[in-house]
Amino acid sequence: MNEYDSQRISTLAEKVGYYKTDNINNIDCYVLNTCHIREKATEKVYHDIGRLKKNYRNKKKPIVLVTGCVAQAENNEMLKREPYIDAVVGPQSYHNVPKILSKLHKKKEKLNFTNFDVVEKFDELNKVKNLDSKVSSFITIQEGCDKFCNFCVVPYTRGPEYSRSPEEVIKEAKDLILNGTKEITLLGQNVNAYFYNEKEKVFKFSNLIMSLDKLKELKRIRYTTSHPIDMTDDLIDCYKNAKKLMPFLHLPVQSGSNKILKSMNRKHSREEYLSIIHKLIKVKPDIKFSSDFIVGYPGETEKDFYDTISLVKEVNFINSFSFVYNPRPGTPASNLERVDRETQMRRLTELQNLLVDIQIKANKNEIGKLTEVLIENRMKKQTKYFGRNENLTPVVINNVREKDIGKIIGVKIQDCNRNTLFGTKVNMEREAAA
Ligand code: SF4
Repeated sequence: MNEYDSQRISTLAEKVGYYKTDNINNIDCYVLNTCHIREKATEKVYHDIGRLKKNYRNKKKPIVLVTGCVAQAENNEMLKREPYIDAVVGPQSYHNVPKILSKLHKKKEKLNFTNFDVVEKFDELNKVKNLDSKVSSFITIQEGCDKFCNFCVVPYTRGPEYSRSPEEVIKEAKDLILNGTKEITLLGQNVNAYFYNEKEKVFKFSNLIMSLDKLKELKRIRYTTSHPIDMTDDLIDCYKNAKKLMPFLHLPVQSGSNKILKSMNRKHSREEYLSIIHKLIKVKPDIKFSSDFIVGYPGETEKDFYDTISLVKEVNFINSFSFVYNPRPGTPASNLERVDRETQMRRLTELQNLLVDIQIKANKNEIGKLTEVLIENRMKKQTKYFGRNENLTPVVINNVREKDIGKIIGVKIQDCNRNTLFGTKVNMEREAAA
């Protein structure tokens, strides 16, 4: 979502005369768009600003904006601790960037824009065309979270759940398609909680997917990130009915232990999670999954940890994110007694080894097979091209041309490493006949 937000911030800044540059040594304005999920996110911001300060010691100071969830969480503290920062701008206030830059251009002052007015934000953003011209683009359709998992800061930094109107989303999709987009990933902290209700007319996430599925030039639809309790039957049926919905789902589970899931306030059990997976496989037998895991959550015993290991083996996630638990200030879990670091690290290593084994096995299994790849771009300083298959796995292809960008082509996989498949373009029809 930060990638989407950064792109939108950049377009907004252009309205008042600022343009993106790769030359960090000659800038008038520095925008640091931050994420609060990772450990030590706040310290990383001060570290980055410190480096910038050093770089500009003998030069004109650029305007410095810190945007995103760290700005939201730290607020005035940040302006006090680091006077080099001119403004903090929360994730629901970045539509004000043109106003902020104009103000700062005229007068030196400290600005704090950390309101939670998500309705105003999207009203403003809708007036500014999304100019992204990538083959694969994002659209934020939903923001915020009402789930309040006990370890997570998102409900405090992004605010309550909010869904954009289907008309706005479809218009943005059409604009992107006109710019050359072939694949759209719908974004939201709880994307599948999308629910729009106007004048008693209800529009659910499944309705949105089916509407996008009808857009002629669009070739692929994805979404992230989902919560298991919002994987409703109508959404599961989209895997049968929406031709462009890709057979890959990132569905965070966090733990395989019912005790830990309860303590995390995840609102679903291991059995309920597995039942969703089985329903999805039933309607889409070739679907693949990835997930998020927190290891060493307060109270996690060896048995709880091995419940997670057995869940991983059962689902065969092809690509996942795993971390040791680290408390986030202000969250309920931060007050609980912690599992010691050594145990956390031992468990994380064991889990990651298993996840890597499964991933490599899945990639090796592709060798010799044909896969459909959407070509995204030529690789930097290389003649090879980059794309992704239906399961979102990166594929590097050696014999395609510039004119293939944006096309879905058949690729025979010849090799792989842990993260990537390597192959050659083939004529699918000829290959099938042979
Ligand atoms: S559902 Fe996701 S975003 Fe919401 S509180 Fe839980 S982990 Fe955080």
